[in-house]
Amino acid sequence: MRTKIPVLDIMIDSVTMQEALDAIETFLTEDRPHLVATANAEMVMMAKEDQELACILNKADLVVPDGAGVVWAARYLGHSMSERVAGYDLTQRLLAQAARKGYRVFLFGGAPGVAEKAKETAERLYPGIVIVGTRNGYLADGEEHQLVDTIRKEKPAILLVALGVPKQEKWLYRNLDTLQIPVCIGVGGTFDVMAGNVRRAPLWMQQANLEWLFRLLCQPYRAIRMLALPRFVCQVIRYKKD
Ligand code: UDP
Repeated sequence: MRTKIPVLDIMIDSVTMQEALDAIETFLTEDRPHLVATANAEMVMMAKEDQELACILNKADLVVPDGAGVVWAARYLGHSMSERVAGYDLTQRLLAQAARKGYRVFLFGGAPGVAEKAKETAERLYPGIVIVGTRNGYLADGEEHQLVDTIRKEKPAILLVALGVPKQEKWLYRNLDTLQIPVCIGVGGTFDVMAGNVRRAPLWMQQANLEWLFRLLCQPYRAIRMLALPRFVCQVIRYKKD
């Protein structure tokens, strides 16, 4: 049984990378769709102002601690949280597993061409992987229904959706029952990294919990969004005091 930990009212699973992978492996054997989310401080802050997102996250089957901020918050609030489970790393481990075990994968999201490039990267890194389809994340009005139908017909075991937060979580939640895909995950900028358009922080920065700083330096237009991080820290400190 996994332990869920409340971080500013968002329930986050206290899991290691291996436990997250094991949980997903179990989802793949169950006859119902599952929603997996990767939570960081920005997402938690967004959910405080977006009731729909908060509800979706609290109903999700697995919410991994994607950011150093949520791991810090859980520990600061007196809970045990072993490690950060970065969405990008989880996706790579899952794709490797999909190649080994023959799980079909569909990639949806990103600017035109990005999901195709991510597919090529996956095929190079994980020989034998079966990626049954790709689709960019910019749909015309009324196209959603058709796309859902296309994805459903391809019968993927794993659907990766990269539309950014909260769009990807809302899209998945809205279509979960129709899609009937065992594992659906919102993966944010993962395809951009796989396509080589965005770089991940060097390992030493990831290990020093400085990935947010690297993102800020590489993508300064994120600065406003990233103000959520200090606000998050203040709210967690205030929450503990009260
Ligand atoms: N995106 C998309 N459709 C949209 C809005 C965004 O496919 O309508 C894509 C965008 O091209 C980018 C990803 O969603 O590839 C968002 O990446 P980001 O790093 O901002 O994700 P987040 O930080 O929200 O997880």
